[in-house]
Amino acid sequence: MTGFTGVRHTMAAAFEKRDTKMPVLFVGHGSPMNAVEDNRFSRGWEEAGLAIPRPDAILCVSAHWQTNGAMVTAMDRPRTIHDFSGFPDVLQQKLYPAPGSPELARRTRDAVKKTPVAPDQSWGLDHGTWSVLARMFPRADVPVVQLSLDGAQNPAWHYDLAKELRGLRERGVLVIGSGNLVHNLRRLDRRLSDAGFDWAAEFDGRITELIDKGDHRSVIAYEQLGPAARLSVPTNEHYLPLLYALALKDDADRVTYFNDRLTMGGISMRSLLIG
Ligand code: ZN
Repeated sequence: MTGFTGVRHTMAAAFEKRDTKMPVLFVGHGSPMNAVEDNRFSRGWEEAGLAIPRPDAILCVSAHWQTNGAMVTAMDRPRTIHDFSGFPDVLQQKLYPAPGSPELARRTRDAVKKTPVAPDQSWGLDHGTWSVLARMFPRADVPVVQLSLDGAQNPAWHYDLAKELRGLRERGVLVIGSGNLVHNLRRLDRRLSDAGFDWAAEFDGRITELIDKGDHRSVIAYEQLGPAARLSVPTNEHYLPLLYALALKDDADRVTYFNDRLTMGGISMRSLLIG
């Protein structure tokens, strides 16, 4: 019974207001194999996990959950979704058994006034979420909730919605956007394991400059950045999670980059630690 009391105590303490805000992450996730391979990207995720305070819970916006209307996972036990095929068994059978958090789902729904956020009982954790968390929080002992991307909305709408999640940072919630700043699977060249095409480098560099200047308006309006933008963001589901992270940046926050490399020609793994 003592152990049970301890668990109850931990639960009661969750989401209490903290003196310091949690940082915010944008993570370039790239290949699902990063979940199980020891490489520079997975090591970067491990180091990030060690560098930040332990969260009470994680709210992740993944490129791989687009819905009609906004939704948030609200189940106690989210399943591990293997939303890919053709990978080795070690990845196909990998599980990430982190608990969910109906309480964080409720707080997320309450925080967002812009649009109704429907509680979801059928999704779970897709690889945009669990491939990263398997390295960042390998014990799978931090509750995880996903917030979907409403596929009908424009970039500014997503940025504005994310602003409403600000209060979660003060309550021990780690918000993560998981996508890729440059993501063009039609232009991949797997021989370029450690390099990117010129247009990928141009767009990655341009967006980084804008982030450093604090010019979020231009990051939101990325489509105006010409041919490099069209090649780097042919569809924007991997780009939008970046806007969720940037929207949560306060004036006092610093932005630190990690895994800031291009890979396979058409993918940027650039990740941001904000806080
Ligand atoms: Zn992806």
